[in-house]
Amino acid sequence: MLNSHKNSYRREDMVTEDLLPRIAILMAHTGGGHLSAARSLAEALEGRARVTIISLVDDYVDFPWNTMSLTYGPWVNYAPWLYHLVYRAFASRKRVEFTYRAAYPLVRREVAAAFAPDWPDIVISVHPLQTEIPLRALRELGNPAPFVTVVTDPVTPPVAWFCPAVDLTVVATEPARRTAIECGVPAERIRILGLPVRKAFASVWGRPKPEARSQLGLAAERPLVLLTGGGAGIGKLMPLARAIARHLARASYPAQMAIIAGRNQILQKQLLAERWPIPVKVLGFVEDMPNWLAAADLLITKAGPGTLAEATCAGLPVIITGHIPGQEDGNVTWLEEHGAGIYAREPERVGALVGDLLRPDNPTLAQMAVQSYALAQCDASAQIAEAVLELYRQPRQPVTPAVTQHPTKRGLTFKEWMRIRYDNRKRYLG
Ligand code: UDP
Repeated sequence: MLNSHKNSYRREDMVTEDLLPRIAILMAHTGGGHLSAARSLAEALEGRARVTIISLVDDYVDFPWNTMSLTYGPWVNYAPWLYHLVYRAFASRKRVEFTYRAAYPLVRREVAAAFAPDWPDIVISVHPLQTEIPLRALRELGNPAPFVTVVTDPVTPPVAWFCPAVDLTVVATEPARRTAIECGVPAERIRILGLPVRKAFASVWGRPKPEARSQLGLAAERPLVLLTGGGAGIGKLMPLARAIARHLARASYPAQMAIIAGRNQILQKQLLAERWPIPVKVLGFVEDMPNWLAAADLLITKAGPGTLAEATCAGLPVIITGHIPGQEDGNVTWLEEHGAGIYAREPERVGALVGDLLRPDNPTLAQMAVQSYALAQCDASAQIAEAVLELYRQPRQPVTPAVTQHPTKRGLTFKEWMRIRYDNRKRYLG
């Protein structure tokens, strides 16, 4: 019954809210893909759970762990070989386990403190470095909440993602499932459901491009090339943009370009200061990526999994201009093998390819668009949300709190720690 009194109406809402399971989604600002995945899942769970997005790496742990997001962009941009070296060094499950075991005592109190304000009923991790450690901290505190890992590297995920003890591991492809099994994850606890993308991307395919372009203030009838480098604006975007603009300026047809520099403010300034021979729109971090994908005819990007998954939902052909060695290797072949993308690193070659693909009499672009859409898994977030809630509904065994060391200096105080243990015992052990 609808209650006309405003306050009591609100109270009822609050009571219903209280009955919803509390879900903590663990992500980090290393790039933009993990945040996008977290937001997509939060959106899919809306109305069915109370979701908190947490970054243990950025907001809880201390130096040097908390510098990861800040150094990610420069690291991947200027020393990808070093990134690859680390990827190779941690390609062994034993080494990963050893590292997590060594790091655990140094961060356990801060990690436990992150869960204290809103004790979760379910935990979802969308970040490879936030699986084993938070899971252990939760169990040590006596919380049996189902723990789910959603792997956001679709084809060649780093071994660090996989923790055999989690309740459910969600991957996007069969090769990723095989890696999970090799890492000891039981096959019955792995599901192939895709990469989470926001609902808005599902309605991009089929939207008239001229209309989408004019809504963004662009010339409606000029084909649009969209250049991006993930959330951190990674890659040789300046030389790429120059080469593309040069080739398009020489072409016999009109064209325009939009460049999304993400959080790379230095690059954004440089791009804004440039004089372009064709119409170019320079942007920083945009919140309406679905609109930009809807307006574009061709996407030029690094092999970021989030961007590629969104591009497939939009049915966009892609030129991949670079990748993070190791973890993004498979993303390149995934698109190339299916005829949805072309790998080209050299700016001159990319410029020539763009010029050729956009030619009005070239049918390749339209064929690639269809191939791209064939790869889309736009309902992945909804499916993952369903799987998570299904897991929550299953009866669970209580776990016995096993606190081995009293945290007194940082993170949780001893009193807080004991209170959590007490509440938790009441809640799960009766
Ligand atoms: N993104 C965004 N606005 C921007 C740039 C990027 O919302 O201005 C989003 C993009 O839609 C995607 C994510 O950031 O979801 C980038 O993720 P990806 O995995 O491609 O690369 P990463 O940044 O994690 O290296």
